[in-house]
Amino acid sequence: MPESARVLLLDRDGVLNHDRPDYVQSIDQLQLLPGVLDAMRRLHAAGVIALVITNQACVGKGLISRETLETIHERLSMEVAAAGGRITGYFLCTHRNEDRCDCRKPAPGLIVQAQQAWGFDPAVTWMVGDAERDVLAAEAAGCRPALVRTGKGEKSVRQRPDVPAFADLAAFVDAFLGQELT
Ligand SMILES: [Mg+2]
Ligand SMILES: [Zn+2]
Repeated sequence: MPESARVLLLDRDGVLNHDRPDYVQSIDQLQLLPGVLDAMRRLHAAGVIALVITNQACVGKGLISRETLETIHERLSMEVAAAGGRITGYFLCTHRNEDRCDCRKPAPGLIVQAQQAWGFDPAVTWMVGDAERDVLAAEAAGCRPALVRTGKGEKSVRQRPDVPAFADLAAFVDAFLGQELT
């Protein structure tokens, strides 16, 4: 895969938008974190394919419909696109913990799906998350985990001091595009 077609895997809640204990259940509750739009613009300008890898058990719990989730993602994509960025794909687990699926992070299923769709080399592909389960999913899929301190990140950074940590997505993107991550 050429350098220009690098793939970056991104968790959604706590990385792109403010995490909410009761889930993002409507487009009004979708509040992007500071610096995210510019970070997404810079990734797109550099030819990076950004894929969102997200657990949304709110669907499996019946709190919102699949259609509402899609509406929320259309809005997220629109906001990013309006700023000159692009979210190329969403890989979703809508199951509950007790469903014991193979795609709910920390399981690697969503990343495996993304890998099969895009053919990237996991060994050189980063997954940015704010929770330990993002790190565990990345590791199980053979990808490279990174943590941001937004969302649940402060706690996760303490849990996983071995994982590269960044203030927020913008700081990660600085390092990623600056080729500081090897
Ligand atoms: Mg998260
Ligand atoms: Zn699942």
